[in-house]
Amino acid sequence: MTFDTIIRGGEICTTTLRTRADIGIREGRIAAIDDRLTGAETVIDATGHIVLPGGIETHAHIAQESAAGVMNADDYFSGSVSAAFGGNSSFVPFAAQQRGQSVGSVLDTYGQRAARSVIDYSWHLIISDPTPEVLTSGLPMAFERGVTSFKVFMTYDLVKVDDRQFLDILTTAGAHGAVTMVHAENDAMVRWMNEKLAKEGKTAPRYHAESRPALAEEEAIHRAVSLAKLAGAPLFVVHVSTPGGAAIIAREKAAGTEVFAETCPHYLAFTAEDLDRPGMEGAKFICSPPLRDAAIQKVLWENIAAGTFDCVSSDHAPYRFDETGKFINGAQAPYPAIANGMPGIGMRLPWLFSEGVVAGRISLQTFAGLSATNAARVFGLDTKGNLAPGLDADIAIWDPEARWHVTLEDQHDNMDYTPFEGMEISGRPVTVLNRGLPVIRDRVLCAAEGQGRFIARKPLARAT
Ligand SMILES: [Zn+2]
Repeated sequence: MTFDTIIRGGEICTTTLRTRADIGIREGRIAAIDDRLTGAETVIDATGHIVLPGGIETHAHIAQESAAGVMNADDYFSGSVSAAFGGNSSFVPFAAQQRGQSVGSVLDTYGQRAARSVIDYSWHLIISDPTPEVLTSGLPMAFERGVTSFKVFMTYDLVKVDDRQFLDILTTAGAHGAVTMVHAENDAMVRWMNEKLAKEGKTAPRYHAESRPALAEEEAIHRAVSLAKLAGAPLFVVHVSTPGGAAIIAREKAAGTEVFAETCPHYLAFTAEDLDRPGMEGAKFICSPPLRDAAIQKVLWENIAAGTFDCVSSDHAPYRFDETGKFINGAQAPYPAIANGMPGIGMRLPWLFSEGVVAGRISLQTFAGLSATNAARVFGLDTKGNLAPGLDADIAIWDPEARWHVTLEDQHDNMDYTPFEGMEISGRPVTVLNRGLPVIRDRVLCAAEGQGRFIARKPLARAT
């Protein structure tokens, strides 16, 4: 046999290619892309389907204590299964340092947690305590182990770093070609708003949006970019939710600054009005930065189409609608005490395909870039994110004609709600391969627990 598997008759689509051809897979890698390949043990018929690079999710909180210390609902099994049903063949969740914890201990902890993953994985290392020890030996050691991206928070008491610490982290990261991600919101502005709203008795979920104004994000993005430029280090701004923030990214990119950014489906699918659903239902839509309005959605879509955003990421942060998650501080907790985050790792790509490609807002080529190729480039997954001989056979086969309504059961995560419940979606992934092995086939899970492997990532390919 020439190949282990042939994917036959699909329409292959990458950022640079759109053609009908077969893909031959041997020993986990793509061995050939050509017309009419023959000689394989397994043939997957992809007639009428679209064959894309397997999705790479680069913003997900899995088996991680939140910035407020609450454990996520998903472990690496349920989280990776949900990701696979959503068209992903690898993901890069976070490994979060608790203050006082060594980097080695963080990576060992997450190594144990991730052993259950059904798809390949790596981590971005969240740094909350940049001691001299962490800066001089912890971060270089992480880098040597293939963890080539770090993340800092400019807000949240338990994890935030100040500007001076941020500069130190950027400098160390930049020296090693590591990308620093940032959650950019002005901490003092948010705390000031929380106090003001509390005095006025405004503590229902809907005030969450008001408490984190666009100005808080725009100011912090501007500051983060300025710090990165001073340090001469690359920066990745996560979950951009404002036109002002997107404008800063677009301007800096045009000027040649090494800045990357993402936005998330929930800013485009929902608005602050969802926080005002009856009772405590609005708590399901509490995330930070908060949901905004329909006007920003139009601007974010324009920026997606224009290339301002390298990724559209789920920011999957699953907290159940009960006392283990959203209401860990009580069923009627004021909004600042409700767990922050929305689930969506299984919806990122189907939603983006439906609302982006099918609705005519972005091309299939742009979709391939946003779902996998750009993430592979920025975060150093050099064997993934594209379809070409020699690369890992990480492949997602989509049925572009499927019409379906979102249900919780379809998410395959550990959640008790999905904010996307009931939405009508066009197109869905049917089969996902990771290193040539089917993770899901015809929408049935066939991967064994622990089938995923750790990805030792490369540094960012610098322009200079
Ligand atoms: Zn997040």
